[in-house]
Amino acid sequence: MEGKTVGFVPTMGAFHEGHLSLMRRARERCDVAIVSLFVNPAQFGPGEDLSAYPRPLERDLEMAESAGVDALFAPTPEAMYGPGDATVVEVPALANRLCGLHRPGHFRGVATVVAKLLALSLPHEAYFGQKDWQQLAIIRRMATDLRFPTRIVGLPTVREADGLAMSSRNVYLTEEERAQAPAIHAGLSQMRGWAVETPRTGHLLARLRELWSRTLPDGRIDYVEIVDGATLENQSVVDAQSVALCAVRLGRARLIDNLPLAG
Ligand code: AMP
Repeated sequence: MEGKTVGFVPTMGAFHEGHLSLMRRARERCDVAIVSLFVNPAQFGPGEDLSAYPRPLERDLEMAESAGVDALFAPTPEAMYGPGDATVVEVPALANRLCGLHRPGHFRGVATVVAKLLALSLPHEAYFGQKDWQQLAIIRRMATDLRFPTRIVGLPTVREADGLAMSSRNVYLTEEERAQAPAIHAGLSQMRGWAVETPRTGHLLARLRELWSRTLPDGRIDYVEIVDGATLENQSVVDAQSVALCAVRLGRARLIDNLPLAG
């Protein structure tokens, strides 16, 4: 691989167009496109969906191949976590909020496995979805702080035609829940419109919760907040950095989404 550029896409499999968009970018931008497929036990809490997580390996292999991926790395948990391994990677300033409050230890699991995967593959570029905005912010910080030479690239959220962000977990939705799920993105989009007139975040979030109580009656909101997209600090007034982030439980699924509010 001497002299060749390597593009890397870490995933947990059960591929959809969101994953494929990252793979295609790696294919376009680098000589060698590598994908990892690892359902990382360290990022699932007790009672979460580790054992239920979809694992359609044959289909994933075909999809990765059709996206032009050169190598798919699918390690066992034992290969990633040896019995003596004692190192964890944490970015507390960005992890102790939003999803981190509802999923204790989740981002420690993510940052640790991504650090290991970057160390194994030493890519020139690694591609992540903006769908997982907090995760992307944490990985950017981690890669900078640990002096990884890899360029971390964030790519836009790929959505279904009705606006629902694609997710491997959407398969958990019943028909009725699937019909309500687009209200998440629709609500965030409406709020972006309101922000032009009334940029006070307290008011905007109250209005969004009121809207969702009608359009998303079965949704249980873990959180919905407006933060600075880089620092993840809460904001009282919307500005050019503002991003709205939410997590909503709908039946068995916990759906996350976000929307930059400027532009
Ligand atoms: P996952 O397999 O869910 O861990 O996701 C692997 C990568 O795909 C992460 O960087 C995610 O942010 C990204 N991803 C997941 N869903 C989407 C989507 N709908 N659009 C763009 N990227 C996504």
